[in-house]
Amino acid sequence: PDEQFKPDPTKKTLVILGTGWGSVALLKKLDTENYNVVVVSPRNYFLFTPLLPSCTTGTIEHRSIMEPVRAILRGKKAAAKFFEAEATSIDPERKVVRIADNSEIKGATSETEIPYDMLVVGVGAENATFGIPGVRENSCFLKEIGDAQQIRKKIMDCVETAAFKDQTPEEVDRLMHMVVVGGGPTGVEFAGELQDFFEEDIKKLVPDISPRFKVTLIEALPNVLPMFSKTLIDYTENTLREEKIDIKTKTMVKRVTDKTVEAEVSRPDGTKERVEIPYGLLVWATGNAVRPIIKDLAGKIPAQKDSRRGLAVNEYLVVQGTRDIWAIGDCAVAGYAPTAQVASQEGYFLGKLFNNMAKTENHEARIQELSGQLNIAGGNSAEASQEIELLERQLKKIRDIKPFKYSHQGSLAYIGSDKAVADVSWWNGNLATGGSVTYLFWRSVYLSMCFSPRNRVLVLLDWLKSKAFGRDVSRE
Ligand code: FAD
Ligand code: NAD
Repeated sequence: PDEQFKPDPTKKTLVILGTGWGSVALLKKLDTENYNVVVVSPRNYFLFTPLLPSCTTGTIEHRSIMEPVRAILRGKKAAAKFFEAEATSIDPERKVVRIADNSEIKGATSETEIPYDMLVVGVGAENATFGIPGVRENSCFLKEIGDAQQIRKKIMDCVETAAFKDQTPEEVDRLMHMVVVGGGPTGVEFAGELQDFFEEDIKKLVPDISPRFKVTLIEALPNVLPMFSKTLIDYTENTLREEKIDIKTKTMVKRVTDKTVEAEVSRPDGTKERVEIPYGLLVWATGNAVRPIIKDLAGKIPAQKDSRRGLAVNEYLVVQGTRDIWAIGDCAVAGYAPTAQVASQEGYFLGKLFNNMAKTENHEARIQELSGQLNIAGGNSAEASQEIELLERQLKKIRDIKPFKYSHQGSLAYIGSDKAVADVSWWNGNLATGGSVTYLFWRSVYLSMCFSPRNRVLVLLDWLKSKAFGRDVSRE
């Protein structure tokens, strides 16, 4: 193990968990030469989640939105260590993280510990199922690359099975029925992508059964996209209906079997009705739940005993009740929505904070050294005093770091048929717009936000490719 991990004893060891929006933003900003930086994540790449729904139908190929961590770290000034592993527990007393290699190939050592001086927890969240029976066994989620690949494969499996010789009409209807649960942005964007796929490709390729294709979006609340303004909610619901997506609001799924969804519909007169909906593909997008490692850590810190949705952090993103642990993104509760925008701003903030902390320590050490020189007779006292004065002035500025403040740039969502909705901050005001021009805006924003020039080129080529030749419907 010593061959693999030789931290410089003069520097603090900074362990960063996760390679998502929060951790990668931190890594981008961090001057790695100030710390022994160790990154731990079961995923050796960064995933650009806003374009993940497009991977489910092949509008974008999955590798176009992945960026290897190794490539990200190679660009840093000083080397940082990466271990592909899952952090399984954190011991805040001993200041160690236990990690396990849960990949298919394992070596002689697949579990060990990493000591830290400073720890950043950016492990994100897992999929919420609310304990509803049958969800985990029968539905697909949409959070990771593997989920998008599984959905892509299943869509075509449903279509090919529906087209099977002598298939019964009821079975064709069931197999061609794609049900999405959760009318948040993930569910809406996926439903839109799915309808596009059928309109633009499946209709032409499998014309005999395509009229039986149907997308249903189920939402427990009275409307979809609750974080958008009322005008955009109405616009989205009307557009989805025009696209022939069946929106079932005030409908809460209670049970899932391998072929049906059982839901409770709230009627306008206040009564409730139980319905059974047969499906071919079921995608579950009902938001986030807390990861076990976070629950475990919260259980070890008395100040976190009331934390239910993640680790409560203070205004500098320090986990409350700890000294050297920070939390960012979906696993932290800082009073903001669990979005990429928040996670990346938090990561950037910590990067700046840690750079400042290192500068402070360096300045303080230099001041101490110069003060020592001043005490020795014969030293150049004027020069040393001048330098101390300058350093102290700089220190004051560095120490004056403001607490984290999130700056909301707006919300954007694709809703299908080349239309998007946007609620964006615009010259001190707000702009709420929807339609095809907004879609071009959506595309340009996400293209510019892609992690690397390589990602940007690949995404652009994928868009052109699927427009020119249609999406690839081979079932891998
Ligand atoms: P993540 O990005 O989820 O990263 C978590 C990291 O931790 C991953 O690398 C994971 O492998 C790793 N990890 C997990 N467990 C462990 C462990 N035990 N030990 C070590 N590492 C671990 N937000 C927006 O603002 N705009 C959008 O358009 C948008 N679109 C989205 C589309 C989809 C389909 C989804 C699912 C989400 C979308 N979001 C969007 C939300 C956004 O992706 C999340 O808020 C964001 O990813 C949170 O960042 P994070 O760093 O906290 O977590
Ligand atoms: P969400 O939490 O935003 O929405 C989940 C929806 O599922 C809720 O509206 C909830 O009422 C519904 N629901 C829960 N249980 C249900 C049940 N049993 N039956 C029917 N409906 C049920 O989840 P999400 O869409 O996955 O988004 C997660 C986070 O990621 C959010 O913060 C979101 O803003 C962000 N995100 C943003 C974008 C974007 O900006 N374009 C895209 C995707 C995700």
